[in-house]
Amino acid sequence: MDFLGLNGRKIVIFGVANRKSVAFHIAKVLEEAGAELIFSVLNEEAAAVVRKFFPGHSVLLCDFSDDASMQACAAEIAERFGLVYGVVHSVAFADYSEGVKPFHETARRDFLQAMDISCYSFIRLGGLFAPLLEEDGAMLTISISTTRMAAESYGYMAPIKAALDSSVCFLAKSLSPKRVRVNAVGAAPLKTSSSAGIPGYIKPYLFAEKATLRKEAVKTTEVADTAAFLLSPRASGINAQTVIVDAGMATNFFDREILDRTVE
Ligand code: NAD
Repeated sequence: MDFLGLNGRKIVIFGVANRKSVAFHIAKVLEEAGAELIFSVLNEEAAAVVRKFFPGHSVLLCDFSDDASMQACAAEIAERFGLVYGVVHSVAFADYSEGVKPFHETARRDFLQAMDISCYSFIRLGGLFAPLLEEDGAMLTISISTTRMAAESYGYMAPIKAALDSSVCFLAKSLSPKRVRVNAVGAAPLKTSSSAGIPGYIKPYLFAEKATLRKEAVKTTEVADTAAFLLSPRASGINAQTVIVDAGMATNFFDREILDRTVE
């Protein structure tokens, strides 16, 4: 049974790098639901991953730091596929090569580059795909479960995700004449290669696991299931939202086990 109502729908997916990518898991759910997938990836290495694991679907290249590349990608999709039902944006970049610095030492260049690739790109996709999205279509991005928890290990990415969450609302409004819905999944810490690239990530990840109500970290497949639902016509009443997938972590500041261990 086509519960999600996605069978045969064309969906563009940005952000597969490897088998751990959030976008990879979203694509798996959408494929199971019968969607026709159009992948757009950063480089040939990622394209090879897509060709291996998603044979029969299309793959294009696109670099979000280069507007000409984004325009060419949208033009190619328009020419080859015509209108599409959905767009998935599962892309972020921050240069952690110098390690994580105190927030007030954030370099302008690093902040603006991360903002450009991780947030502005979603706004730009809204513009490029506005004419290509079907009426009642959907856009989706991946944010984080809280942008007000100042985790030192995450550097300046939380403020950028806050801008992304706000952009979700503004895009939902500006695309509403076409009845295109725009939402985000706010994911708790996951095990992917980009998170592994964040210096000192493992401790906060393990702590976050302890802080969930179920004492078990959120799985990437759980984020993917929510993403597929939000994209689908089953979520037709949900618009301009960041839906949190954190296994209850945000409610558990006074976790009994953590309290017992840290307070005499
Ligand atoms: P990932 O590294 O697998 O995916 C990030 C993707 O961004 C990669 O495919 C990479 O090629 C792409 N990318 C980077 N720079 C690009 C550019 N210039 N142009 C086009 N694409 C570019 O990691 P992921 O964890 O799957 O990240 C996907 C999304 O999920 C990101 O928005 C991330 O912030 C978000 N997220 C991740 C976690 C986590 O713990 N891993 C938690 C919450 C949210």
